[in-house]
Amino acid sequence: MYGIGLAKGLWLTLRHFFKPPVTVQFPEEVRKMPARARTSLLWFDERCTGCSTCAQACPDGCILVATEPRPDGSMNKVRYEIDFRICMYCGLCTEACPYEAIQPGGTFTDAVYFFDDMYQDKYDLTRLAHEHLRNNNYAYPNGMNAPKSVIDFIEAEAEGKDAPPPGGTHAQIPSQPRKEAPRG
Ligand code: SF4
Ligand code: SF4
Repeated sequence: MYGIGLAKGLWLTLRHFFKPPVTVQFPEEVRKMPARARTSLLWFDERCTGCSTCAQACPDGCILVATEPRPDGSMNKVRYEIDFRICMYCGLCTEACPYEAIQPGGTFTDAVYFFDDMYQDKYDLTRLAHEHLRNNNYAYPNGMNAPKSVIDFIEAEAEGKDAPPPGGTHAQIPSQPRKEAPRG
């Protein structure tokens, strides 16, 4: 019968008219990142041993790890860098890491002005990791809580104090301020 399609369409519109909206007013309102979302990566220095398993697992060769031995046998991470310019967000590095030191869970707001700023060194990565921990009640994306020494370190850093090196974890890297895009 003529008009049935129109009636069905209007009925669908009417039904959705009274349901709560599925969208949010980003960026004023930010939706919580789903636990298994394929997002940009977060790297947590205090969990990382510098074993390079993530770098070997990455099909694109995005991850650079350079270490030197310390007298106590642990590894000093001289460099830890992720080239997000070529990362395909496959998550293989996160699955390969034996210590869950690299995890998916980055924010919606890590866009950069310049393409080359997607190359992130250990200081950039640590800033994002500390931001994540501060904004998520000091829980890692996998749900585990950060150790107290790390929480103290991040809070002291936020207050501009000289942060004590956290005991029982690997050396903490201070986070770097966010790079500002040039104006004008
Ligand atoms: S998500 Fe995939 S492409 Fe990106 S760094 Fe990890 S392994 Fe490499
Ligand atoms: S992130 Fe994980 S796999 Fe990569 S170097 Fe650190 S501990 Fe090893």
